[in-house]
Amino acid sequence: MPEETIFSKIIRKEIPADIVYEDDRVTAFRDINPQAPTHILIIPNKLIATANDVQPEDEQTLGHLFIVAAKLAHDEGVADDGYRLIVNCNKHGGQEVFHLHMHLLGGRKLGPMLSR
Ligand code: AMP
Repeated sequence: MPEETIFSKIIRKEIPADIVYEDDRVTAFRDINPQAPTHILIIPNKLIATANDVQPEDEQTLGHLFIVAAKLAHDEGVADDGYRLIVNCNKHGGQEVFHLHMHLLGGRKLGPMLSR
């Protein structure tokens, strides 16, 4: 079993977070250090450490992440102008929290995808 992170505590409401959506498969909350006017993290309630650890049985849950992302983009008013969804993996991807999560960033022009 992968080690729990602070995100498991957020899912269980053991520590506070600005939760904007939750259901039996997914929790979404505002990033504590926002990089854009809208910066939400969407995470599976099941602890999957990294994108490398995704299993065939996670397919529906991870597809659901996109459904929730589209709903939240609409709710946040960023859907039409556009936004960016990011999943970082391990060291080169810049992953800091080892509970798979999708960043939803929007509310301004985000610039080039990668810093050069
Ligand atoms: P990553 O680099 O993809 O692993 O992103 C981790 C993200 O989690 C960063 O953007 C952090 O700002 C965010 N983060 C870390 N701790 C918390 C927390 N307690 N509540 C909300 N966001 C957090």
